[in-house]
Parts: sequence; C-alpha cells; structure tokens
Amino acid sequence: MSTAMDKLTVETRKKIVQEVLEAFPEKTAKDRAKHYEVAEAPTIETGKCALKSNTKSRPGVMTARGCSYAGSKGVVWGPIKDMVHISHGPVGCGQYSWGTRRNYANGTQGVDVFGVLQVTSDFQERDIVFGGDKKLETICREITNIFPLAKGISVQSECPVGLIGDDIEAVGKKMAKELAMPVIPVRCEGFRGVSQSLGHHIANDAVRDHLLGKGEFEDTTPYDINMIGEYNIGGDTWASRILLEEIGLRVIGQWAGDGTMNELSISHKAKLNVLHCYRSMNYICTTMEERYGIPWMEYNFFGPTKIAESLRAIAAHFDDTIKENAERVIAKHQAEADKVIEKYRPKLEGKKVMLMVGGLRAGHTIGAYEDLGMEVISTGYEFGHKDDYQRMIKDVQEGTIIYDDPTAYEMEALAEKLGTDLVGAGVKEKYVYHKMGIPFRQMHSWDYSGPYHGYDGFKIFARDMDMAINSPAWNLVKSPF
Ligand code: SF4
Repeated sequence: MSTAMDKLTVETRKKIVQEVLEAFPEKTAKDRAKHYEVAEAPTIETGKCALKSNTKSRPGVMTARGCSYAGSKGVVWGPIKDMVHISHGPVGCGQYSWGTRRNYANGTQGVDVFGVLQVTSDFQERDIVFGGDKKLETICREITNIFPLAKGISVQSECPVGLIGDDIEAVGKKMAKELAMPVIPVRCEGFRGVSQSLGHHIANDAVRDHLLGKGEFEDTTPYDINMIGEYNIGGDTWASRILLEEIGLRVIGQWAGDGTMNELSISHKAKLNVLHCYRSMNYICTTMEERYGIPWMEYNFFGPTKIAESLRAIAAHFDDTIKENAERVIAKHQAEADKVIEKYRPKLEGKKVMLMVGGLRAGHTIGAYEDLGMEVISTGYEFGHKDDYQRMIKDVQEGTIIYDDPTAYEMEALAEKLGTDLVGAGVKEKYVYHKMGIPFRQMHSWDYSGPYHGYDGFKIFARDMDMAINSPAWNLVKSPF
C-alpha cells in the first residue's frame, strides 16, 4: 500500500459500483454487491477482505469462469509432459482445451512428451447408454501401443462420466496392473464445484494418492527444492528456475510446467517447497508438510521489487552461502531492471490498469505494474477464495475496486466509468475492449509473448505493456469525419 486516494475517491468508487449493479434485477444486484469491496486503509492494513467468493455464478450473466475439468486437465495434469491425459467423455472439452494453454515443455511431441495432443474417448450415444468403461480399457491399451514411451496415463472425466455411473477407478486399477504403469482416474467432471477451483483440489488429491512419494531418489542435497504451482506459461518456470539455480539451489521438481511424472513422484525428498500459485497447489504443499515435514512458502517473481523480496525470503531458509548468493544475484539483475524501468516508466507512469484473472495473477502482478509507475485501479479473480482476497488486498492501493467472478457487463461498464488505460484479462474479454478503443493485454496467455516471471520476464512485460498502451492504432479508432 502506498499513495492514499482521498475519502471522496473511495466514496465515488463505491457509488460507481452501485450504479453498475443497478442494471441487474433486484435479487441479482443484491447478490453481486456482496462480491465487491472498495479497499480502504484499515482493510489493507489488516488484510480482512469481506468480499464473498467461491460461490456459484448466477445463471445467464456471462461469467468468465470455466469448470473443474479445466482446473484439473487444463491446469494441473495437462502440463505433466511424459504422461498421456485422456479427455474422457464426448469430443468437445478436449478439443477446445487442445494446445490453448501455453505450458511450454521440452521434448519431442508425440514421442516422449504428449502435452500438445488431444487424446479422447470421443463418447457416442451408445457409450452414454451402455457406459464407457470397456472403451476406456481399449484406449489405455492403444495408448501403450501407439506411445510406447508414455510413463503413465491420466483419465480426466468430463461431465457425463460421473452422471452415468461409470467406474473409472476400477478401470484404472485393472489397467495399471495390466500395463505396468500408473493409470490415474480423476473425477473432475465439470458439474462439480463452481469453477476451475475444485478441479485444482481434485487434481491435487489425485496426485497425492497416485504419484506422491512413489519414486526412488537417493542423490539428495541440502539445497533441494520443488517449484510448486508453476505452469511455465511462455517459459515462466524456466525464467524463474535460472534464478533459483543462480543462488545455489537445486530444483528437483517442477509442478507441473515442463514437469515429468518422475519429478512429482520424488518431490517428497525436497527440503523446501516454494509455491507460486497458492490457489491451485496449496493443497499438495499442505499434504507434503503433514506427511513428510517439508516446509513451504509462497513467492512472487513478477517485477523486480517482488523478485528481490522473494529471493531473500527463499534464501533465508538456507545457509549464509545461499543468502550471500541471493544478494549478489539481486544486485546483478537489479542494475538491468533499473535500465528497463528508466526506459519504460516515463511512457507508462500514472496509467490506470484494470485486471481480472483466474486465482493468482490479478493480485500477483500488481507489484510489476507498480514498478513501472502504473496504478491498478480495479482487480479481481474468477475463482479466488477468501484467503486469496486476503492476500491480494494487502497489495492494493486505497480506493481499488476489488470484484469476484465479475460478469462481462460489469467489467465493461466499470472500464468505461473508470477511464481505464489498460485492461489485463483473458481471451474472452480481449476483443471487446479492443473494439471499445481500450488497450488490452491477455494476462493468461501473455498474448503469445512472455515469459513474464523473473528478471528476464520483466523486460518482456514492460515492453508488452508499452506496446499495447502506446500503439498508434488507438489514435485511429475514431473516424476523422
Ligand atoms: S463443463 Fe463439462 S462439458 Fe463443459 S468443458 Fe467442463 S467437463 Fe466439458
């Protein structure tokens, strides 16, 4: 928290929220109002955000949310690169989620890594009527024939699987024995829960039950860590990992961007878990702490301020050598970061940013914008829980409008009323704002750019924000006639 807007501004912003919600029928407006909070000094200090979250979306309001399958297959399991993930059910879910999340991975696709494939049981009517278990067995056998280097199979349930009474757990057990590799059933049918979030939890539990602690690993060192909740979007995990290695740590597990089944299986041997995405993987960190006594801590590698804070906090878990290394690495990279700030800050200073991203970045990227002199005036999550908002509110300025699961209408109305200079959200939002003449950056896919994590990422982040805001295209939106 830093600059305080005056009381009038906080009140004005509350009024703007009220005006936006007036467009809804009374019951909806009343419910949606509970999903808003305008940050004030006491709440920022104490981190006590009262906003309502992690509840059902209202019908027919164009929520930006996805489903449990997206949270499990799309987010957690999909990036584990040397396994084949079956989208089990009709063809749609796997097709739409095919190759759309940029969780980068090294390897030869279709040979020893399989992340960009769409593998599906392609349910037909007869599978709905007679059940899909036999078909699933056949597919598992086919997978081992076609992809002999696959290390395991996960079965990602789409909506019908849980509705027609299929027993994918029994198939998993039978096939694991027959094929001598893990065949892991995941009950992430999209009707479960209210968003992607329960999919994360279900997926974490499936990793816990089927992979965690199963691997052998003797060659341990006192500096072994896991990077948890890192999905390597546009190479983010790699841009983070080099810093951790530069300070002398050894990453034995990447969960799950560019991660392998073996890494996850030996992760219980680490000395510390460093957690980037708290929302999607806090569950497995808690499990590892309870089961193996491995401590965990959160970190934030967006922008030089947060990176330096995080490197120091991580190093504090180790000896003086690591702490000294951290200072040396920060000093070296800060000099480069200062040059980036010197170049871009004059072009971005004072620009008003509106964010809406899944469960982490709408809070985690605030520091990077502030490093460039930009002001996040409104932000919120699709599927954050109470603890995410409590974390986020500590990082916002007084007067920031915080929303949960905002509807498309609310976002558009707010963007207009707040005089926003830049919107950062997802692909469903992007083109609407372009047409409104408001600069936009995709904050899930990085608009096919990135990485944004780490010092290398910050250079790209600053360049991209400048490119979006200061593009000459915005002067051409209105006809001169
Ligand atoms: S809600 Fe059901 S049908 Fe839709 S994407 Fe999710 S699993 Fe597939």
